[in-house]
Amino acid sequence: MENPLKTVKAYAATSATAPLSPSTIERRDVGPNDVLIEIAYAGICHSDIHTVRGEWGAIKYPLVVGHEIVGVVSEIGDNVTLHQVGDRVGVGCMVNSCRTCTNCLAGSEQYCLNGNTGTYGAVDADGTVTQGGYSTHIVVVEDFVLKVPESIPYEAAAPLLCAGITTYSPLAHWNAGPGKKVAVVGMGGLGHMAVKIAHAMGAHVTVLSQGLSKEADGRRFGADAFHATSKPETFEALANTFDLIVNTVSAPLDLDAYLSLLALNGTMVNVGAPPEALPLHVFTLFNNRRSFAGSGIGSIGETQEMLDFCAEHGIAPEVELIAADQINDAYERVLKSDVRYRFVIDASTLG
Ligand code: NAP
Ligand code: ZN
Ligand code: ZN
Repeated sequence: MENPLKTVKAYAATSATAPLSPSTIERRDVGPNDVLIEIAYAGICHSDIHTVRGEWGAIKYPLVVGHEIVGVVSEIGDNVTLHQVGDRVGVGCMVNSCRTCTNCLAGSEQYCLNGNTGTYGAVDADGTVTQGGYSTHIVVVEDFVLKVPESIPYEAAAPLLCAGITTYSPLAHWNAGPGKKVAVVGMGGLGHMAVKIAHAMGAHVTVLSQGLSKEADGRRFGADAFHATSKPETFEALANTFDLIVNTVSAPLDLDAYLSLLALNGTMVNVGAPPEALPLHVFTLFNNRRSFAGSGIGSIGETQEMLDFCAEHGIAPEVELIAADQINDAYERVLKSDVRYRFVIDASTLG
């Protein structure tokens, strides 16, 4: 089916150092299994910033980032059964996977052994480079499109597609729930969702933030305790305490200091993605039989489960809605840990 909106408005990065600027990109025709989505809102994830600045490695410019997307289905391909025109839908960090490897067959397509197809900066089946959500429309194969419950406020839903699932997945996998002490390190986009979700799962939640300026917010999101990591006493007072620590920090941390906060059989999961290698002392792991783990986004099935969980528990991200010409200022505020707690671009302002 011919896509009448092939050339669409967007905001693109043109180099690692230039500000993002207005641009256009080409979207493919709507194939038999595709849906065309008119994007309403797109969240700004710290991964967008790492990517466009080349911190995770060289990328091909120009690139349109954005992998927290919500909008409305405006066209469907002939074979589409999962979505209808007018549905409120979302797209997260991936738009396809090989569907045949062991991990895909196990329903963990985020860990596709052939590499999932990222929403931006990945080579798509047709050989083009995928372009993300800072744009007015996107075409995605139907089974990588999520249903966004109408009870979640529309302008707040987008960050669930990355910040929500990236924190829900490890919290669910490591059984955050009643009787479990969970610490969340860093209360930015991911961290504030980790607090809300872990609290809704019934865990006892502690925030470990650089200072105390976000304490009232943290408690409002469901934290039972809140400590400043700038104070050395914090690490003494909380030694051997937590069953699970979710580290959302975008910069390198002293891993041994945080691992020493784990109780017997405790696990610290890194979802924060600094580019640098992080040293750790194995003796810190011997004590209390501790584990250090990582976790990457979540599967499509788990993302739908998370969206439904958030709707059921009345959880939504805290967002600052911005126009497209505020994206570069928003990036600077994210880098200063000054986001409260996710910037969301109103796609109607893209030009
Ligand atoms: P964000 O909004 O910038 O939040 C990060 C938070 O970490 C900040 O708000 C701040 O919280 C804390 N922080 C920042 N710099 C710090 C420093 N130098 N030392 C100590 N704490 C610091 O970022 P985000 O969008 O939540 O993303 C967080 C990280 O997760 C990024 O690296 C991103 O790429 C990564 N990520 C990974 C996945 C995955 O699949 N694993 C998915 C999405 C994102 P306080 O002010 O409370 O200290
Ligand atoms: Zn992200
Ligand atoms: Zn696969």
